[in-house]
Amino acid sequence: MTENHLDGNAAGGALREVFAVDLTAATGLCSTCSRTFVVAEARLYTRAPGLVGRCPGCEAVLFRLVRGPGRVWLDLRGMTCVQFELPGDS
Ligand SMILES: [Zn+2]
Repeated sequence: MTENHLDGNAAGGALREVFAVDLTAATGLCSTCSRTFVVAEARLYTRAPGLVGRCPGCEAVLFRLVRGPGRVWLDLRGMTCVQFELPGDS
């Protein structure tokens, strides 16, 4: 039987490219109401342990971002999909 997959390290270059861009211009899809929105349109709440972005249509939580010393926690489960342009790759 042959292996048909690689370990997660093989995605390192692609993930580094993705997480080095400004996502505020990205288009997201709300997993609750299926509305398509620009991330900059999200309603941002900052009186929490981190940042909480809510859907401009239904108020569902789209993302949570908590920054700690030397690390970050990012929860994107409220967004079914995120689409954005890669600089210099058109
Ligand atoms: Zn929504």
